[in-house]
Amino acid sequence: MTRTFIVGGNWKMNGSQSTVKDLVAMLNNANLDKNVEVVVAPPSLYIPSVISTLKAGEVAGQNIYAESKGAFTGEISAEMLKDVGAKWVIIGHSERRHVFKEDDKVIAKKVKHALDVGLKVIYCVGETLADREGNQTTAVVFSQLQAVASEIKDWSNVVIAYEPVWAIGTGKVATPDQAQEVHKEIREWIKKNVSPQAADAIRIQYGGSVNSGNCKEIGMKPDVDGFLVGGASLKPEFVDIVNAQQ
Ligand code: PGA
Repeated sequence: MTRTFIVGGNWKMNGSQSTVKDLVAMLNNANLDKNVEVVVAPPSLYIPSVISTLKAGEVAGQNIYAESKGAFTGEISAEMLKDVGAKWVIIGHSERRHVFKEDDKVIAKKVKHALDVGLKVIYCVGETLADREGNQTTAVVFSQLQAVASEIKDWSNVVIAYEPVWAIGTGKVATPDQAQEVHKEIREWIKKNVSPQAADAIRIQYGGSVNSGNCKEIGMKPDVDGFLVGGASLKPEFVDIVNAQQ
């Protein structure tokens, strides 16, 4: 099974109208590997302008609230993302889990709602440093998979991003072997708990301090099917990360 490599740029809460315009122009003018799917996740205010100008990829929301509409001040819905033309949403990012205290129940509801509305989901999992040091990495990752599995009918609409919390925004990157080990375990979990076909087809991105210097080696690992990039997605080196397989 050949899985299309998929690279996401999570811009988080960064940028302005002018830097967003520059980033889109950079991507539109770059020579991006045609065999790679590119998804960028701008802050929601800038999503419509990115959708109308970006030629080089699809657009994701960074979050949703799991209701269609109503008195939820400050939130945006999956329906709204869909309405403006976004195709994806990132759910379960470690910043949502840890800074905004989203628990498995909230996250599972978001995954279900996003998929019901017709968005594709980048679902993030990953252990903290304490989990890793306590040999709990796979236990934590498996429980994060378990938390959403019953909400997913069609796994082809889901990409999993393995993002060790200790590697996000820290400059500490998992070694290629550490990434491969967990990716392989995730695929095994899907094989056992969903189906061998879903396991074969699902794309598993690595995220956590990916940059132009470390992407090639990590991207060569057999169970690494792409990256979810934070800091480096705001820089010209994002192009090198998209092209890591060349
Ligand atoms: P980072 O973020 O690349 O800045 O470590 C990754 C992410 O949060 O998706």
